Amino acid sequence: MTRTSNAVHTGRLLLTPSDPWHCPDRAPLIAALAAGGFIGDPLSGPEAAFRVGPAFLELLAFTGCAVSIATEPSPGAPFCHVRIPPAARVPCLHHGRNTRAPRCGACRGRLSDWRAWIGEGVLDPTAILRCPSCGARQPLTQWDWKQQGGFARRLIQIEEIFPGEAVPTPALLALLTATHDCEWRYFYLQD
Ligand SMILES: [Zn+2]
Repeated sequence: MTRTSNAVHTGRLLLTPSDPWHCPDRAPLIAALAAGGFIGDPLSGPEAAFRVGPAFLELLAFTGCAVSIATEPSPGAPFCHVRIPPAARVPCLHHGRNTRAPRCGACRGRLSDWRAWIGEGVLDPTAILRCPSCGARQPLTQWDWKQQGGFARRLIQIEEIFPGEAVPTPALLALLTATHDCEWRYFYLQD
């Protein structure tokens, strides 16, 4: 696969509980990911960031035929690592340049003016939106953002992964579910 080292963000893979209000504690999450070999040694910095662990390539399924990921930090170049940022107090919408209009859970119609809804301010995750197609009213968090965005309090971020380049294996999702007794979902963002 081709990687570029210019300023364009390749992308990241994000894992989060399917219920965006659910917020597993960070310490047991880090402990479980370390015990499972998904993350390795911490990287220096203000946030909880980690080198990839010895089982990283077993727990993520890369779709390319010749996987070569950079795992050593080097200035100005992307390298693969895992971040577990502090949790948000309420679910926040995470979106990027790859995010598309979410779909209505009732009729699958698209909320085509979603970027206007978001505007500049902080979104209220309890806000009710009326579907322009079918009239159904549902909280913003229940619109279907597919694998291009969504609401979350707790995130596991894997940098840098092009959207679709790697997917969590059933073993990784099972590890997370077993640790926190909740279902997890994943999506991709490009800054
Ligand atoms: Zn609808």
